[in-house]
Amino acid sequence: MKRLCCSSNGFLILLWFCALTASAGDLPRPIEPYVNDFANLLSESERESLRKRLRSIRSERGLEITLVTQQQKSADWQQRSIESYATALFNEWGVGNRERNDGIMLLIIVADREARIELGKFYGREHDGNMQRLMDRKLVPLFREQQWYEAMHRALDGFEQLHRSPESPLPVESDSGPVLWLLGLGGAAALTGGAGLVWFRRHQRNKPRQCQRCLGAMVRLSEDIDDRHLDKGQQKEESLGSVDYDVWKCTYCDNVEIIPYKAWFTSAETCPQCRKHTGKSERTPYSPAAGGYYLNITCQHCQHHWSRFVRHSQSGGSSGGFGGGSSGGGGATGRW
Ligand SMILES: [Zn+2]
Ligand SMILES: [Zn+2]
Repeated sequence: MKRLCCSSNGFLILLWFCALTASAGDLPRPIEPYVNDFANLLSESERESLRKRLRSIRSERGLEITLVTQQQKSADWQQRSIESYATALFNEWGVGNRERNDGIMLLIIVADREARIELGKFYGREHDGNMQRLMDRKLVPLFREQQWYEAMHRALDGFEQLHRSPESPLPVESDSGPVLWLLGLGGAAALTGGAGLVWFRRHQRNKPRQCQRCLGAMVRLSEDIDDRHLDKGQQKEESLGSVDYDVWKCTYCDNVEIIPYKAWFTSAETCPQCRKHTGKSERTPYSPAAGGYYLNITCQHCQHHWSRFVRHSQSGGSSGGFGGGSSGGGGATGRW
């Protein structure tokens, strides 16, 4: 019995060691958070153009997207799928905001003629269908023609759209029988699930309400009228897009109920002084020595100032300026 114990301990240690090596192995280190063109598919000016776009996406909405190309998967990963490789790379680098987990990676493995869109944990599996569609219809045809630069811009279009409205599927274009096309798609079920979720949310929000005070029926006021019932801070939140308020009014007793809906994606910080979601932040340049950067935040409502240090890397400054986000393996794969 004792011996069994020991050997099972040894086995566990071995497993643990394997897990350690498998989790990192010889994954490449990022050169920068935007364009890691290890396979040299792009010219310097193309890289610069993509970098510029990625930098502004990141500064304007806090969305981290990274583009990665490699001739081959790293040696330890040759026998493994691009899916598991992409997830490992994403998590090793920590792509995306650590709290929101909304990062996105596009990985191209040239020799294998494979590409992977890897999504942060936030997005949930219902978005895989959208990304598969982007991959199959927009990206793979360009990859086949080796139009890498064009493909990356199309990918960014799709990612921006996903991030803007994560609950709604990408619009179906009318160029080729969308219904038939949808039917043929493996992700059709996922897409339907996503649409159902959107419907459910909208339904919940539009559902008739009963007055808490007199049990009378309430009506929802339109956006321009409802502003009169919101205080200055709430109006600021609405104008910054950080919180959307629905105002319901009782048709009998004039009781008013205000229901906040916090935005899924917002770069607005919560002000420690007035508690409104109206803090606008500016970040100082990344300091490798400190392993992070400062956010200088100003409340757009009460003008309170504060700042906060954001530590960047999970592994001692090696993650190259990513936010520490992680992926649960969602996304889409393309082959050509
Ligand atoms: Zn009432
Ligand atoms: Zn404030």
